[in-house]
Amino acid sequence: PVDKDELGRNTWSFLHTMAARYPEKPTQEVQKDMTTFVNLFSKFYPCSYCAKDLQEELKTNQPDTTSRSNLSQWMCRIHNSVNAKLGKPLFDCAKVDERWRTGWQD
Ligand code: FAD
Repeated sequence: PVDKDELGRNTWSFLHTMAARYPEKPTQEVQKDMTTFVNLFSKFYPCSYCAKDLQEELKTNQPDTTSRSNLSQWMCRIHNSVNAKLGKPLFDCAKVDERWRTGWQD
């Protein structure tokens, strides 16, 4: 089995990479599918209290699926709200493409 932290790191890699590869101009159908995906994901994330908090957050903060950059920024904010809850430093969302899309410059 994997522990909660390893699962978390792997899952964030997946979620941020998925956002980084999302279309810049998604069709209505693609936007709807991504919204459905995120909401279903929150029901099946295999850490029950993590999933519960995410579902709570989604009640007032649905994903911005209107473009790649908007989805990437939304994902960054969601991750930062978990970072804040855990007392971890917040990530600078201006660096999200560098980290997850184009790669660090140095
Ligand atoms: P992680 O937080 O896993 O981050 C991995 C890498 O992502 C970092 O090294 C950094 O390079 C980058 N990064 C960090 N912040 C951001 C950001 N805002 N945007 C983009 N990139 C960023 N753990 C709990 O103990 N309790 C919980 O309730 C909980 N809820 C979770 C909910 C979800 C949906 C997920 C996916 C994970 C959750 N976790 C939770 C796990 C937790 O978020 C971390 O994954 C885990 O603590 C390991 O942390 P880490 O310091 O290795 O880095």
